[in-house]
Amino acid sequence: MSNPASPPPVPAPASMEGWTGGRAPSDPVPAPEPVAVMGREGGAVPFDLVVRSRRVFAEGGERALAVGVRDGAIAALLPYDDPVPARERVDLGEVCLLPGLVDTHVHVNEPGRTEWEGFATATRAAAAGGVTTIVDMPLNSLPPTVGVDALAVKRAAAAGKCAVDVGFWGGAVPGNVPALRPLHEAGVFGFKCFLSPSGVEEFPLLEEDGFRAAMREIASFDGLMVVHAEDPELLTEPTGPTYRQFLDSRPGESERRAVERVIAVAREFGTRAHVLHVSSASCLEPLEAARRDGVRITAETCPHYLTITAAQVSGPEFKCCPPIRDPGNRDELWQGLAAGVLSCVVSDHSPSTPDLKVPDFAAAWGGVSSLQLGLPAVWTEARSRGHGLARVTEWMAARPAALAGLPAKGRIAVGADADLVAFDDTAPFTVDAGSLRHRNPITPYHGRTLTGVVRATWLRGRPVTDPAPPFGELLARPVNP
Ligand SMILES: [Zn+2]
Repeated sequence: MSNPASPPPVPAPASMEGWTGGRAPSDPVPAPEPVAVMGREGGAVPFDLVVRSRRVFAEGGERALAVGVRDGAIAALLPYDDPVPARERVDLGEVCLLPGLVDTHVHVNEPGRTEWEGFATATRAAAAGGVTTIVDMPLNSLPPTVGVDALAVKRAAAAGKCAVDVGFWGGAVPGNVPALRPLHEAGVFGFKCFLSPSGVEEFPLLEEDGFRAAMREIASFDGLMVVHAEDPELLTEPTGPTYRQFLDSRPGESERRAVERVIAVAREFGTRAHVLHVSSASCLEPLEAARRDGVRITAETCPHYLTITAAQVSGPEFKCCPPIRDPGNRDELWQGLAAGVLSCVVSDHSPSTPDLKVPDFAAAWGGVSSLQLGLPAVWTEARSRGHGLARVTEWMAARPAALAGLPAKGRIAVGADADLVAFDDTAPFTVDAGSLRHRNPITPYHGRTLTGVVRATWLRGRPVTDPAPPFGELLARPVNP
């Protein structure tokens, strides 16, 4: 589905400098030794590329391995010292080799609001951040992806521009139940709906009847509904411009009540459902109980809910819905991840132009821009809490790939796509929003010192270099995942 027959061999770079995701400008740690560049060897060459690391995060745990790549896929996992011939060899030494991350929650905004973010910029930011697959949300672009014609418009806008692989969510909005099955058959990975106002008028929320009708229809073809779960009855207008007033207007109880609604309808129709961006830890208990009961429901959270607290919010670049809450809540979200109640950590990258980030939390555009920074942000916090990098790759690669039904993505295993990331897990850097590849230089992580630098990214066995013609593919849901 995503392996081209035979990608042309690309010359190995003389060093890792200049690769997408290379040294952060402020990173004081030297890059690894230049990689070994071997010429074409006599006789049969079994692999196009072999990447070695003493710390490969393959299925089954962290090991010293040589990863053999052929025709864009992982063809063998060999002992680190195996002298297997290959057209290109890269030895990362102690730098980690991770599966490319899968970010199933990205708002690209093209076409229609391309000045907020576009496919070229979003996917280059993704590659620089170690993300090799994104799934684009159906709203904020124009038209929203609520019918097959709109999906065709979106795919045409993305074609030829993507530095990583890109899939698409469809949208479930009032009146489009007849469009859901055709969208499913056209290859969307599932459907997003809102239970509260979305922030853009062209993507209305679903009321109870509309939500039930969409969930029933999606169950009929065993699709997936992904839900923005806040109960509008418990949301109020902020009483003023401060962050505390904004936070008070969106209580955790509104998330919990909406999650209970999703669970009830998923249980009734047997629909597979997924709760987006869980911010309130009050959702964990009903989610865990539903899971125990066999309801087909999963949930995600986002780097900003795991790494930032309400007291650290200093400007509108932090505004998002649901909001960033207090430290005790953040600790509980980490516990929910550790326990598996939350299974995915994805960005909810939702940027805008700077003029919409006005210094008034009631009026500012809500959306955090972080696609390039999710891995180091989450890793920095995870390691301080005693979680290993294997868990982080599970939350940010394997589980999101499983959510979308992409068996070739998110894991280092024979047969998977050779989507690989060289990650220097002890290297610190300080975030400079202006040096990120996002279209607009706005992020709540600006000025933060994080640990972990992406040194190189390969997509289906080819290094994603900057600048180079992009070769990311547009993905469709596999027929038999
Ligand atoms: Zn979102």
